[in-house]
Amino acid sequence: MSTKADAGRMEKIVSLCKRRGFIFQASEIYGGLNGAWDYGPLGTELKRNLKDYWWRAMVRDRDDVVGLDGAILMNRAVWKASGHEETFTDPMVDCRTCKTRLRADQLAETRQCPVCGSKDLTEARAFNLMFPTFVGATADESSKTYLRPETAQSIFVQFKNVLEVSRKKLPFGIAQIGKAFRNEINPRNFTFRSREFEQMELEYFCRPEQGMPLLEYWKEERLRFYENIGIKRERLHVKTVPDEERAFYSKGTYDIEYEFPFGAQELEGVAYRTDYDLRQHQNASGKPLEYFDDETKERFLPHVVEPSAGVDRTVLALICEAYDEDSAPDDKGRMETRTVLRFHPRMAPVKCAVFPLLKNKPALVAKAREVQQLLRPHMNVFYDESGAIGRRYRRQDEIGTPFCVTVDFETLGEKSEELRDTVTLRERDSMKQQRVNMADLLRTVITSVT
Ligand code: ATP
Repeated sequence: MSTKADAGRMEKIVSLCKRRGFIFQASEIYGGLNGAWDYGPLGTELKRNLKDYWWRAMVRDRDDVVGLDGAILMNRAVWKASGHEETFTDPMVDCRTCKTRLRADQLAETRQCPVCGSKDLTEARAFNLMFPTFVGATADESSKTYLRPETAQSIFVQFKNVLEVSRKKLPFGIAQIGKAFRNEINPRNFTFRSREFEQMELEYFCRPEQGMPLLEYWKEERLRFYENIGIKRERLHVKTVPDEERAFYSKGTYDIEYEFPFGAQELEGVAYRTDYDLRQHQNASGKPLEYFDDETKERFLPHVVEPSAGVDRTVLALICEAYDEDSAPDDKGRMETRTVLRFHPRMAPVKCAVFPLLKNKPALVAKAREVQQLLRPHMNVFYDESGAIGRRYRRQDEIGTPFCVTVDFETLGEKSEELRDTVTLRERDSMKQQRVNMADLLRTVITSVT
């Protein structure tokens, strides 16, 4: 159950996201567009870190997965064969009093409009979530297709090409990160349910008898992934999707949920989809999509296990998980409330901030710039010379920067020769400071941010 405190926490998170440039309302100066969001400078870095780490864990670090970057626009025949044109729907009702459109399955048992309280609702009818569009100069049925509602279908459609060029043997996977679009009836909970979003999907092809064990394997792998990006295991829940809620072709599905301030909600689905997708496309296109096993001399359609995660939902989970308030001394040593994003250093948008103690001392500025250049090829570094050091720390804490480096007169060798070329390295969570040699700085910082 989410409480008032949770709602307050969510409000603070949304406001921080805007104030510090993580997430803005899309088309804001025109009043926005419901279900669309723009990522600001810090949000863009955070999102990139997440996608890069997913790619590293799921593709680069493995011998059995290769990548694909498919088109968002696909032949309409794809969406007919996959079943999306017919059945990719949510049940919708209209409130006859205030005209709000609502998802029937999200209404409380009282069947009341959550906006105006009226009980005068229409019967539920199926609403297709795909955005129709027209390709070319004529806008009629012959030129109609849809913006893709998931990235997976281009993987199935290109299965044969990728198999041939990569020369992989089963089991192996094809991974993709990309935009997907769904005309959600009720976008809500900040970026959680959007109309335009990004997915990170893996289709892992296997022999039929490997399907169930691989479903377990991928569930565990994915849980490990979330822990490796700093999401605590106790805030993740694995829901076994019951038979009646599962797609008819799926032999098993897990939802990995995260405890958002607005309740436990799906971050990722891990589904054993059997050979449904390849079979549908083989039948509809008339092109064989089978796999030939050299050893057993069998020809068959591979089965597939699909871990499908949302980039935007994971970014939101990272921010919710990281958000914290504690107390820290201000410049006069008095305790004040500190807002801090405790991102895993691997995810943090800025890895290290570099400060000269004073901005009007050219030698300090030059040395701080030197430190910045030393780190810059390896990570996102931020240079800041304005305001008292305490204020600068606070600004970095609020965006989750794990390390701050201060260059002072000791760095210049003005206090003692021994301290020349040493800097103060301050860690975000403990606020502990240590004197580090510039020559050791990169090694000290880089091990925790990669
Ligand atoms: P939900 O039940 O929440 O609508 P779903 O079960 O339809 O989600 P899938 O089709 O399994 O979602 O999509 C895989 C992943 O894509 C989801 O786990 C989620 O992270 C992401 N995703 C799906 N729809 C949206 C959306 N409208 N906004 C943001 N992310 C989404």
